[in-house]
Amino acid sequence: MGSGKFSVTLMIGAPGAGKGTQARYVRETLGIPHVATGDLLREHRRRGTVLGRTARAYMDRGDLVPDDLVVKMVIDRLEQPDAANGVLLDGFPRTLTQAQALDVELSARGGGVAAALFLDVPPGVLVRRLSGRRMCDGCQSTYHVDLHDLPADGTCPECGEHLVQRRDDQRSAVARRIAIYLDQTTPVLDHYRSRGLVHRVDGNRPVEQIRSDLLCVLRRRVPALVAS
Ligand code: AMP
Repeated sequence: MGSGKFSVTLMIGAPGAGKGTQARYVRETLGIPHVATGDLLREHRRRGTVLGRTARAYMDRGDLVPDDLVVKMVIDRLEQPDAANGVLLDGFPRTLTQAQALDVELSARGGGVAAALFLDVPPGVLVRRLSGRRMCDGCQSTYHVDLHDLPADGTCPECGEHLVQRRDDQRSAVARRIAIYLDQTTPVLDHYRSRGLVHRVDGNRPVEQIRSDLLCVLRRRVPALVAS
């Protein structure tokens, strides 16, 4: 842990809101690691760890992985040396319990949440986006079958590994994930809204416009980390 201010920036939004896509841009601007709990959990699954094996059933159904497991995984990640200046947290916290655990952890480090970027997308759009989404098994880049001209052999244009449809992007799990988001993550937004930390960005627009709005917010809210 570095000394001084340890602050995290949060990326909040429903499944399919575009958090991962935008976080990849934002992390370059902020120069801090992008920590996506979904990516970390998928990595545990690939490695066959105890956490990965436990998380699998929850994830495939579209349920949330229990709070204690996810909180521990995030705190372990925050301990890594590359996180000394803070991280961009994507997909965490997703429940009020997780938000409270993060508050305790950050205040123990004399830090806090710098900003919560809320990507707002209507539920009907989310269903269309998630059902057409394909993810790379290797670099975890995501594509949409209607928006990208993908190679016929099903490989990733970025790294050449296989593109797959995540099991939880299949229709039955998608509806469940959106319902859980509305029920469990709305209170998280309220939690940060009451502290004036939430910055809503309309996520139902072209990627570039969303990106430029997010960068404007970051220049105002996290100037220490934004280079220009
Ligand atoms: P994502 O890639 O963010 O859509 O996450 C994929 C899945 O990982 C979710 O549907 C959950 O099962 C699990 N997951 C990711 N982040 C969290 C979290 N903060 N709390 C609980 N489960 C999570």
